[in-house]
Amino acid sequence: MKERTHVTKKVLNVSLTVTYKKDMQISDLQITQVNRQIEALKNAGSFYGKKLSDAGISHIQTPEDFKGLPFSEKNDLREAYPLGLMTAPEDEIVRIHSSSGTTGLPVIIPYTAKDVDDWAIMFARCYETAGITNMDRIQITPGYGLWTAGIGFQNGAEKLGAMVIPMGPGNTDKQLQMMMDMKSTVICATSSYALLLTEEIEKRGIGDKIHLKKGVIGSERWGEKMRQRIKNELGIELYDIYGLTEIYGPGIGINCKYDTGMHYWDDYLYIEVIDPVTLKPVPDGEMGEIVITTLVKEGAPLIRYRTHDLSRIVPGECPCGSRFPRLDMIMGRTDDMIKIKGVNVFPSQIEEILREFPEASSEYQIRISHLNGRDTMRLYVETNGSVDFLDLGRRIAGTIKSRIGFTPLVKVVELGLLPRSEKKSKRVIDERYE
Ligand code: ZN
Repeated sequence: MKERTHVTKKVLNVSLTVTYKKDMQISDLQITQVNRQIEALKNAGSFYGKKLSDAGISHIQTPEDFKGLPFSEKNDLREAYPLGLMTAPEDEIVRIHSSSGTTGLPVIIPYTAKDVDDWAIMFARCYETAGITNMDRIQITPGYGLWTAGIGFQNGAEKLGAMVIPMGPGNTDKQLQMMMDMKSTVICATSSYALLLTEEIEKRGIGDKIHLKKGVIGSERWGEKMRQRIKNELGIELYDIYGLTEIYGPGIGINCKYDTGMHYWDDYLYIEVIDPVTLKPVPDGEMGEIVITTLVKEGAPLIRYRTHDLSRIVPGECPCGSRFPRLDMIMGRTDDMIKIKGVNVFPSQIEEILREFPEASSEYQIRISHLNGRDTMRLYVETNGSVDFLDLGRRIAGTIKSRIGFTPLVKVVELGLLPRSEKKSKRVIDERYE
């Protein structure tokens, strides 16, 4: 644990010179709000209400008490299907949303009118944080329907007073036509759709008819190269928006123009970052799993919800002067974690290091095996013929050793030799379990 802690700090290149303030603790007000959530859950006898009652939990008083509250998980929420999470009386529920489960039952989240409004307020704040105003024209390309994407972007934009162009996904011809005719100034999209639109604009040579100034992109881990491509080609600023259906939807955090992490709304949510193995909170600045507690939700409050998203609390204050705390960009999923020689390693850490070697391409492959009683990692990276393969391999291995604490066997191969894959998970092959 100590070791990983030390490592993570270095890998993420956290400015260690920053004087760390005391870790952010849950405030007295937030504790009062959590108690109200617990009370509502128990009174409703909803899925989590029963769990809390069974665990004999009724009230917390201190930050330590809070850390003793049980976690909640997506798999548990499925057990509550269809409406077991409903915590407000049915006459107050105005809408449900559902998270897209790849396996098994979906999760159904009921919303009261206040929940819908709170979400719109948070989302409007996101737009404002990105410098978007009621004079902007916001083209929304994420999907509408059971999930929270399109409608979240729309409600927030209307709360802000901007003009919404509710396109939904696909139909690129019409998308671009409206973008030109309506003079859209903001595009909301997934990173892959934003890239597709960028390429189409380039291909059709219509860049001078596009009035976009900003892109609000659903936060997922996406490559810096892709980001630069969109930014440069369209000449726009990009903002990463964070959120998940279980906790309202997108709109619970966004980066500001200083791009020092995503401000999140701690008057609606309490966010902790925990070690996904020990489940203990990690100090601010260190990477771990994001855990969210809703503070004022009515339809389906959640206590200590494990998102399995990896990030860290950014310590200190943002130059923008916002009082809202920050989460770093999402670094990946806890499921990506590899344990090797007792050290927790995330592919994103390896990527981070490889990015410091411009002579290596962004492709890589990790293979882990168990040989003669020891775990070994082989890391394959690509470069071209103008580089000394052996020397590059040695330098990369040395950097990984000093940052993460073990020495991988680095194999440098010819550019184009590694398989191309959209999925990061395909880049890690753990032969220990095959
Ligand atoms: Zn800021």
